[in-house]
Amino acid sequence: MFEDKEILKRKIDTNKIIKKVDKIKWKCLYDACNKNAINSHLLQKRKILKEVSENEHVILFSGRNPFYFREDVKSIIDFKKVGINKAFTFPLFCKHHDNYLFSEIEKKKQIDFFDYKTQLLFSYRALIVELFKKNKVLIADKRLIEYTKKEEIIAPIDQSFIERIKLGKNDLYYYKKEMEKEINTKEVSQNFTFFTYKYKGFPIFLSAVISFSKKHLKNQYLIDILPVLFANIIPYKNISYIILGYHNKYTNGEIKKYVFSWRELDKESFQIKLTNLLLRCETWGLSPSLYRKIAKRKKRFEELKERWIKTSSALNDEIDFNLFLGSLK
Ligand SMILES: [Zn+2]
Repeated sequence: MFEDKEILKRKIDTNKIIKKVDKIKWKCLYDACNKNAINSHLLQKRKILKEVSENEHVILFSGRNPFYFREDVKSIIDFKKVGINKAFTFPLFCKHHDNYLFSEIEKKKQIDFFDYKTQLLFSYRALIVELFKKNKVLIADKRLIEYTKKEEIIAPIDQSFIERIKLGKNDLYYYKKEMEKEINTKEVSQNFTFFTYKYKGFPIFLSAVISFSKKHLKNQYLIDILPVLFANIIPYKNISYIILGYHNKYTNGEIKKYVFSWRELDKESFQIKLTNLLLRCETWGLSPSLYRKIAKRKKRFEELKERWIKTSSALNDEIDFNLFLGSLK
């Protein structure tokens, strides 16, 4: 079938706009700093990504692009092999802040994942990535709307998605300020609660901020800040550390129950819980060999992709799907 010429032109133009947004010179997102940002690793290259890489490569999950033309699910979500130099890099901070803020975890010989400041710093970086991604989507959105007005065509944008992004961005700014206050002081006030769970090492990494849609927070319509869950999975020296946390003021029973539910799981429940967490996140990846093992199992990744689109935004609504059945020891 031949594609309609007009649709093809729109696709090409849209891609050009998005590519231009990729080339923007971003500013440092720390506090009021306005210096140019350099590329920062969401997870440390040498200490963490190296742990699961093979020939210096890892497989990254690549999430939904809000500007896709509604094609099939497989083209929206996919996996890609990336060198660890480039994996999970985003222009987040200027050179000074990238060094200075994380020096505590970058320079230590042994990272203590049970230490509050460490838990906070990992979660802070995940938060800034989320904020960066939202900023980028909103800028691209603005440019696409200008383009569609000029061309008098309908914008290929999911408007409710954009509205959610705007709301989410305001909340993230609040959490950012709260975290920066704590990062800056010697006396830690512990406005956040984090739990770290230790499991036998497995080659998956994740660092994300998970938000909830309003419909699941019936009793919380009136509050302006929505609760979020900070989640990190960090493979380090043959152990996987799972750091989960929330802000003490803006939290709810669902998040607290969820965080606690990671305690002492058997293998089967652990793998199902892990699958469910991956279904809620975009920023995660795995080792090439684990990827290959799962890919050998019939339709396992296809099922993940289909479920990823449909997943509910309630944390405790876990589904009985185990991506790792038979592939993860
Ligand atoms: Zn800076």
